[in-house]
Amino acid sequence: MVKISQVRIRPLVLPLKLPYHWSYGIRESFAVNLIEIEADNGMVGIGECTVAPDQAGTAAILRRLTSHLVGQSPYDVAPLIARIFHQDYLGHGANIMRAANQMFSGVDMAMWDLQGKLAGLPVHRLLGGAHRQAVGYFYFLQGETTEELARDAAAGRARGERVFYLKVGRGEKLDLEITAAVRREIGDARLRLDANEGWSVHDAINMCRKLDKFEIEFIEQPTVSWSIPAMAHVRQAVGIPIVADQAAFTLYDVYEICRQRAADMICIGPREIGGIQPMLKAAAVAEAAGLKICIHSSFTTGITTCAEHHIALAIPNLDDGNQIMWQLVQKDIVASPDLDPKQGWIEALQGAGLGFELDADLVGDGERRFAEAA
Ligand SMILES: [Mg+2]
Repeated sequence: MVKISQVRIRPLVLPLKLPYHWSYGIRESFAVNLIEIEADNGMVGIGECTVAPDQAGTAAILRRLTSHLVGQSPYDVAPLIARIFHQDYLGHGANIMRAANQMFSGVDMAMWDLQGKLAGLPVHRLLGGAHRQAVGYFYFLQGETTEELARDAAAGRARGERVFYLKVGRGEKLDLEITAAVRREIGDARLRLDANEGWSVHDAINMCRKLDKFEIEFIEQPTVSWSIPAMAHVRQAVGIPIVADQAAFTLYDVYEICRQRAADMICIGPREIGGIQPMLKAAAVAEAAGLKICIHSSFTTGITTCAEHHIALAIPNLDDGNQIMWQLVQKDIVASPDLDPKQGWIEALQGAGLGFELDADLVGDGERRFAEAA
């Protein structure tokens, strides 16, 4: 039986095409920790995870967590991760499931990539098979000013995009101005807003009243993520559908949101819930509550896009405007396949594992940039 022989953690810094504007400020680059899990037959599974709050610090944590994998079977991903969480987090009194999930997400991803490569099958076939032949994605509007955002909206409309997504929570005047400008440019296409916890309950209710005339499909995470009742309060008071994002990080959050009927859909991704297999559990809880899952994405390369794509194929209750983020990076480290949605759709990936090939030179550039900044 194949065993894991070594694990490499490689911190990367990847500059963006444009500065990224949202309610938390401005970003110029995405940072990821690349995880390579090598089997004793030479096959390598690849994943990546987020680096908050510190890239070198999270790389050190990943090295410690993944040291327990050496000599183990890549097919034991779920019990291995459960055991490591128990020993290295709970055993030290560190009941910080959200932070742990962010680390395990990339480990789980690499383990499934390795399993798929060993089996010669795409990951979605190992998860029970595809419910659909293609996955639908949003068009993420980029820009700082009303003019820049309107120009991007017109470009998206010309590309035949179906679902537009705009960051708000940047102040009432600007929020109303950019929403009006985008609605003018996109005609009757679908428009989703994300306030990223930027509003109080009172602000959110008032903003929803003012935004209603722009035919908003939903507003994502209007209020602070720690309070599921705050989101439920807004949802009961307004007509615009509400979607939970930052409030939904663990399986227990998903259950509580469903139980309190606090959202009309749940936006969650492998980076929050802890990987590919935990996403199936989150989707199952939401399915039982009659809710769809919109795959969440944040600051990723095409590696996470591929993982999210296989999840999206494998869960029954999926939205058709899922999030995708690699396109914001100047040069994505995924060399193939083509991950650019066509009119918002990507066909089912059929390569073994997660189904991507990396550009080794771009990975090297990302490592150099991290080393220079450190
Ligand atoms: Mg969001």
